[in-house]
Amino acid sequence: NNEEASAKAAAANADSGAPTIFDKIIAKEIPSTIVYEDEKVLAFRDVNPQAPVHVLVIPKLRDGLTQLGKAEVRHEQILGQLLYAARLVAEKEGILDGFRVVINSGPDACQSVYHLHLHVLGGRQMKWPPG
Ligand code: C5P
Repeated sequence: NNEEASAKAAAANADSGAPTIFDKIIAKEIPSTIVYEDEKVLAFRDVNPQAPVHVLVIPKLRDGLTQLGKAEVRHEQILGQLLYAARLVAEKEGILDGFRVVINSGPDACQSVYHLHLHVLGGRQMKWPPG
């Protein structure tokens, strides 16, 4: 099925450190619907939304953060900024009554784009456990 296919595709997509599509989104060479932006962080709507609200929050500078599993002490500040930006996005989107923040890290988590990103999901009843 669809879910298995995308899981397999993601698992096959390894962390090579190569540039990703998000570089082009940051450079605005590829259009995106920006929800929040500051000096360090960009938040834009996911092209394949899994909920009525589905926003990706990313660092503008990847700085080795291809995945959360590669985070180092020097990344502590940006990691905090990303999480706080996720909360600002949730407020802007009117989902502070309930939202979910997801980070897929590595092939077993079906990460497909190797530039750290937080998924902010909401606008519907979320289920637990996630798949
Ligand atoms: O966690 P994962 O790496 O699988 O998430 C990547 C996300 O980036 C997907 O939800 C996908 O829909 C989204 N994406 C996007 N615009 C692109 C490429 C991917 O919103 N051009």
